[in-house]
Amino acid sequence: MIRPKTLEEIELLRENAVMVSRTLAEVGKAVAPGVTTMELNRVAETYIRDNGAIPSFLGYEGFPTALCISVNETVVHGFPSDYRLKEGDIVSVDCGTFYKGYNGDSAYTFAVGEVDKKTQELLDVTKESLYRGIAAAVAGNRIGDIGHAVQSYAESFGFGVVRELEGHGIGREMHENPGVPNFGRRGHGSRLYDGLVLCIEPMITAGRKDVYLSKNGWEVRTCDHSKAAHFELTVVVRHGKAEQLSTFDYIEKL
Ligand code: MG
Ligand code: MG
Repeated sequence: MIRPKTLEEIELLRENAVMVSRTLAEVGKAVAPGVTTMELNRVAETYIRDNGAIPSFLGYEGFPTALCISVNETVVHGFPSDYRLKEGDIVSVDCGTFYKGYNGDSAYTFAVGEVDKKTQELLDVTKESLYRGIAAAVAGNRIGDIGHAVQSYAESFGFGVVRELEGHGIGREMHENPGVPNFGRRGHGSRLYDGLVLCIEPMITAGRKDVYLSKNGWEVRTCDHSKAAHFELTVVVRHGKAEQLSTFDYIEKL
């Protein structure tokens, strides 16, 4: 059995989760046509360091930057670059912090200016699938209940659910057990119990679910070049209702 987090640990994870949430909002303020994804990375790294934390992705297994920034058909683990965002793009920003010995990890997919109707639906459905996954993250349920909630909702719109990557536990390590797949069967997988801290992170495509790893060994892209969205929050499994540690409120109040 995986050890549940203590109250003290949960408070430290909450501090990280809030910092990541605020960092994503700072990045969101900067998202606009003409801005390079490296500029977004700089905004985040500056904010994280100004708050006394370390950007945990930087150097993680050799990852080169503070943020993963994944545009359009790139699902996750994109490298910030001199690419200039343009109207109609979507940009997934995944952010991690290391602060007081614990980790934060959350992601949001931003629309750049106006996006077409199907792309907006992809964003809305992916975010809602995350909230449905969170609603299933209650003590007594099983891991498969979370995946089932995400998958059944996303697929009901004809979208693809990426299988190769999944959510995870979080604590002193950014990625802890258990893995949290975005697909699954009700009542299957390990049992969820009070105090388990999870990152739930659906990765949903507008087309087929198949992805490939690009030549740089990091960037995951859709095989059919359809757009992909990715939203991630950190929650504590509780009886009755999960407790959210990170939030999109700072972003959506902009
Ligand atoms: Mg993440
Ligand atoms: Mg994660």
